[in-house]
Amino acid sequence: MPRLGRECNMDRNEKMPQKKPVIAFYAIMLLAMLLANAALFPYLASRQVVEVGYSEFVQMLEDGKVDRAEIDTDGRQIVFSVPGEGDEVALYKTGLTGDPQLNERLLAAGVEYAQPIPQQNSPLLSFLISWIFPLLLIFGLGWLMNRWLAKKMGGMNPAMSFGKSGAKIYAEAETGKTFADVAGQEEAKEALREIVDFLHAPERYNEIGAKLPKGALLVGPPGTGKTLLAKAVAGEAHVPFFSISGSEFVEMFVGMGAAKVRDLFRQANEKAPCIVFIDEIDTIGKKRDGAGMTGNDEREQTLNQLLSEMDGFDGQKGVVILAATNRPESLDPALLRPGRFDRRIPVELPDLQGREAILKVHARAVHMDDGIDFGAVARATSGASGAELANIVNEAALRAVRMGRKLVGQNDLEESVETVIAGYQRKNAVLSQHEKEIVAYHEIGHALVAARQTNSAPVTKITIVPRTSGALGYTMQVDEGERHLMSKEELENKIATLTGGRAAEELIFGSVTTGAANDIEQATKLARAMVSRYGMSRSFDMVALETVTNQYLGGDTALACSAETASRIDEEVVAAVKAAHEKALNLLKENAAKLNQLAQYLLERETITGDEFMAMLAD
Ligand code: ADP
Ligand code: MG
Ligand code: ZN
Repeated sequence: MPRLGRECNMDRNEKMPQKKPVIAFYAIMLLAMLLANAALFPYLASRQVVEVGYSEFVQMLEDGKVDRAEIDTDGRQIVFSVPGEGDEVALYKTGLTGDPQLNERLLAAGVEYAQPIPQQNSPLLSFLISWIFPLLLIFGLGWLMNRWLAKKMGGMNPAMSFGKSGAKIYAEAETGKTFADVAGQEEAKEALREIVDFLHAPERYNEIGAKLPKGALLVGPPGTGKTLLAKAVAGEAHVPFFSISGSEFVEMFVGMGAAKVRDLFRQANEKAPCIVFIDEIDTIGKKRDGAGMTGNDEREQTLNQLLSEMDGFDGQKGVVILAATNRPESLDPALLRPGRFDRRIPVELPDLQGREAILKVHARAVHMDDGIDFGAVARATSGASGAELANIVNEAALRAVRMGRKLVGQNDLEESVETVIAGYQRKNAVLSQHEKEIVAYHEIGHALVAARQTNSAPVTKITIVPRTSGALGYTMQVDEGERHLMSKEELENKIATLTGGRAAEELIFGSVTTGAANDIEQATKLARAMVSRYGMSRSFDMVALETVTNQYLGGDTALACSAETASRIDEEVVAAVKAAHEKALNLLKENAAKLNQLAQYLLERETITGDEFMAMLAD
């Protein structure tokens, strides 16, 4: 692509926009120096020159006082010197009158003339004052200004928007983040460490002829620390960090996106080695489709520009491009070709250990009670992302402040788990006594069914304090460890537990309410997955009837079977949920006394712990 190569060169030779203030500064200083010189010189010169009349000059000549004279025909004047005592010399000047005898007079008086007369005692000093000193001043101030600019780039508010296209390119001289700030994510860090090493010593790689990938793609669900990891790479390698979000590229005017890409890469080239980070790359990197109807020219142009820039720049220079996305399957295959984002680094949701580590990282910045059990909090937050865990710690700190405490306690953390994961507590929501009763039985129904089955996660908390998420009650079950596999029996138990709430309502009140909507949804989802994805039904065996199309962002599924089969799946799902519902009803009938006792207790207390629940159940 010759066009590209030329453009790159041209760009590189151009004056950088961010250098403009410096250039202007030098220009102003130079001007000031010239003005100072112009003002200073006549002053210095005239200080000692006394103007005299021509006749006086002739008199002085005849008296033999004059030893030198300079005839300035342009200025139409004669400047002459009269030696005084010692080294002193007095300077005089007089107008040139066109006296024809001037030469004769000068010769007669034995005056050296038509020679330049030193106007000052020390030519060296004058030179220093008029040239060297201002130059020193300029460079000194320039240096200070450079330092100030550098400080501004790497300081507290490093976000600077510059460039001709007006793109919001965030440049940080130092991100200040290191791998120590990223808890867990060991595999991702391992993969990125090589890039850090390359940025440290590119010669070592160039010597052997090894080419590091130009780009790496961080793939994972939102909030798992992809941005954080990219910053940490820059921080570890002590190189500048340029970042831009894919959505920033999407502009109103066609061609702006492409200009932004060009801007970004030109700046990065200037500052190499450095990291360029493109967040949400899927917004520009979506698959291009041939159909012209929807034709998003702008996005396509931007993507094309990105692709050609990636091909155009020299990987040996040490510009590493990182990008992040949570929908890798929607990316244009051209982006993933060798030489572009050919390295894919998965950044997954943290596991139990990872969650504990993340909590601890964020707890460092907060004053905590001694002996906080982070493990317990980690266990209660299965499926939470790093961002959510960071939020939990912050919510806990906020709660401690609200309560007027100086330290964050276990209680604050546990409370904020619910705040973040299940919505804020809504203490002032008004429920009628009857409604509260229904909710209490419903929640105890869940808990009892769970407790009366083997292989169910233990109940850790039951509450009928409403959340802003809309839930009127909440039964929290927490697994002892991390679960990666679930058996068919466990899934069936889970469905039965989900139906337990509704079952209790039926049993006690003889009628049903809308309160079970969420339970119904979840139970159906599980039952359907058992049939269509996990191969847990007798009639379909190990046949995939549904496939996951988007692994992240909720895991949407698409049916992969005939309509006939689909209706048979529905039958199987209904049967499975019905069976679980029956089982729950029977369990609750057998434990009707406990159900009443526990529900009354919950109604009184509003929130009970798992231990209280188990103790009452046991006696
Ligand atoms: P993403 O870019 O994947 O959506 P971010 O990098 O923006 O996620 O993460 C958001 C915040 O969540 C981070 O600033 C950090 O406070 C926290 N966080 C996420 N993952 C981690 C982790 N592994 N360790 C520590 N903090 C994390
Ligand atoms: Mg991000
Ligand atoms: Zn329920």
